[in-house]
Amino acid sequence: MRGFAERASVDAAWAWIAENVLPLDAEWVDARSASGRVLAADVRSDVDVPLFDRAMMDGYAVRASDCEGASSYHRVPFEVIGEVLPGRSTPLIVTPGRAIRVMTGAPVPEGADAVLPFEKTERDGDRMLAIDELPPGKNIGRRGEDIAVDTRLFAAARRLRPQDVGVLASIGAGCVSVVRRPKVRIVVTGDELLPAGERPRGHQIVDANSPMLEALVTRDGGIPRQPGIVRDNRESILENMRDDADVILVSGGSSVGKEDHAPAILAQYGTLAIHGVAMRPSSPAGMGRLDHRFVFLLPGNPVSCLCAYDFFAGRAIRLLAGRGAAWPYRSVRAPLRRKLVSQVGRVDYARVRFEDGEVEPIAIAGAAVLSSTSRADGFVVVPADSEGYPESAIVEVHLYDEPCAGDCDRAAAP
Ligand code: AMP
Ligand code: MG
Repeated sequence: MRGFAERASVDAAWAWIAENVLPLDAEWVDARSASGRVLAADVRSDVDVPLFDRAMMDGYAVRASDCEGASSYHRVPFEVIGEVLPGRSTPLIVTPGRAIRVMTGAPVPEGADAVLPFEKTERDGDRMLAIDELPPGKNIGRRGEDIAVDTRLFAAARRLRPQDVGVLASIGAGCVSVVRRPKVRIVVTGDELLPAGERPRGHQIVDANSPMLEALVTRDGGIPRQPGIVRDNRESILENMRDDADVILVSGGSSVGKEDHAPAILAQYGTLAIHGVAMRPSSPAGMGRLDHRFVFLLPGNPVSCLCAYDFFAGRAIRLLAGRGAAWPYRSVRAPLRRKLVSQVGRVDYARVRFEDGEVEPIAIAGAAVLSSTSRADGFVVVPADSEGYPESAIVEVHLYDEPCAGDCDRAAAP
């Protein structure tokens, strides 16, 4: 924590985000591709679904009262006057003693109030014999039974599920108004970096943060853009921070050293609201604004970069995208296998693994060991006022994996 005269608390950084970040404006998108998007306004239906009473079984449209007393000992004859298939209709009317053959999904002909299934009938030449009775309304799906006209189907802020876009299609919604996805420019700095996709060589290291940040931004509803690695000098960094984006993520050079340009740029041309946070890792994180853009300064060390993203940048991106600030991780509570120490005065982001249903903190060399986060099942956040937890204490573990896309059963075991 050398170098920072003073460090803000995680709570102060969260408060700055809460005060400054609002959902973006709305845009109209094709309802068909709106799964995962957040509705900007309520959606009401202006139609009934279905628009007509329909047969729910293959059988005969009849008047239920005509079948009264029918059984296999007392067959009741009907004259079959026609047939209706799904998508068709008939001018014929069901009158006493008459029936119309219908297939599932076909409109129920006028005059009928029930559908007698085929298996409750026998055939006798042109006639149908009913062998069972049924109450009025039986096997008929009523108009508006699925969705009635004027119903509020979805409230604003709902994140659409795949079945929701199916429902939108069923009411004939071509477009929906959703919160715009934030455009996120990833500015990765470091003269020692090789672009992702290359093999490490000489004294250079491959940029691990771009692919990681792109995946995180996409997960949180943003549109990432990373056109290339930016040289460690003021001019290139400033130029790249002035991107046409809602959020700028600057990876690397976020601290107070000679090569750490981004904080000074932000202080000079915009606002450096928070610089230095009482947490580990990621203490050299920062945030502020450059004109309309939100800027997050992420330390270059990959674990710090992940942690600072998840604590601050991801939170802001989710809020902009209309998703709310909550962690995007499912969490479970489980006992610690051994004690977890933390220093009072800072928040700790401790990577952990599950061992036989217990939580094992991962001993790591530091913020540079990104693979520790791949070995981990999740992380525990130790608050600033805590000096950690003793063995067997119950802790809340945020799971890196998406719900049930991995070892959730094992994690949830205790
Ligand atoms: P910095 O925050 O720029 O001082 O970088 C801290 C450490 O993280 C240095 O060892 C860098 O080489 C390393 N580092 C910086 N950026 C990246 C990156 N994009 N991918 C992997 N390591 C990085
Ligand atoms: Mg650097």
